[in-house]
Amino acid sequence: MEQKNEELKERLYDKSYTCPICNKNFKAKQIKKGKTIFVEMDLGLRGKFKPIMPDYYYVIMCDNCGYTAVSKTFDKTNGKHIKAIQKNINKNYHPKNYPDVYTPEIAIDRYKIALYFAHIKQSDISEKAYIAQKIAFIYGDINNKEGELEYNTHAYNWYSEAYIEEKFPIMDMEENQFLYNLAYLAYKIGNKDEAKKTLGKLIIKKDISNVLKEKIEEFRDILRNDEES
Ligand SMILES: [Zn+2]
Repeated sequence: MEQKNEELKERLYDKSYTCPICNKNFKAKQIKKGKTIFVEMDLGLRGKFKPIMPDYYYVIMCDNCGYTAVSKTFDKTNGKHIKAIQKNINKNYHPKNYPDVYTPEIAIDRYKIALYFAHIKQSDISEKAYIAQKIAFIYGDINNKEGELEYNTHAYNWYSEAYIEEKFPIMDMEENQFLYNLAYLAYKIGNKDEAKKTLGKLIIKKDISNVLKEKIEEFRDILRNDEES
């Protein structure tokens, strides 16, 4: 274990950031380029990598004030967000001590703190959905079915709300990918009929990408097999 940790540590480096809330500089662990091997893209369009999962390192946490967000949105703060965070921040914040190599449990802990900050800064609901889905993915990695279902349910509900309230791209997703993801979440929380319906509508669209088309076909096969068994 110790040796494995040392080997994983060599794949990481300290990246510098400036906090948009307290304006101080700090460092956070990131994976060096070319230090992961792509294995596959799973049904939830999550890239699986060896020997480190990049999404375990997507959460950035300021050492000075504690502000935490996913890398996609860390800098995307407007005046309203900054005010809301500053009002809620702990003035006596002590940085959390994490080891260099993050276990699934640590990654989940960090995403949950990012979710808390998304909540207090009153971010777009899609940001919360994105974080919840990441938490569900990692619960899946450690076979925690209860946690996986709880956070997939949040992700499904929040993305459904975002679909009504927000404009595309939503968390970098165009509409086809977004709807595919909603079908995936519906499936994960036990709503197979909705998943089937959405995929049926998507597959006949003319602007569907080849990658997504392949995934839809794979997904429909899984749903068919589920029905037969
Ligand atoms: Zn800060």
